[in-house]
Amino acid sequence: MPTPIQQMIDAACGVQPGDFVTLRCPGCKAEKRVRKDVTDPDGTAIVEFQCPDCNPGDFDIPTYFDENGIELLFEE
Ligand SMILES: [Zn+2]
Repeated sequence: MPTPIQQMIDAACGVQPGDFVTLRCPGCKAEKRVRKDVTDPDGTAIVEFQCPDCNPGDFDIPTYFDENGIELLFEE
């Protein structure tokens, strides 16, 4: 969830709550809020993938979750 300060900033900037997703590293649990990517599935609230500290080198495949923590799967 965004902090109250982040919510204030969002409101001041006219940003809708659904415009941002939380990036989370499953290794070190680092979190970062970023603008939702156009490739994210509908309803994405959390995108989990390993940060460069936890996975130097290879790209990790991201896992998408909705606001209830339910994993979202891409529809072909
Ligand atoms: Zn990490």
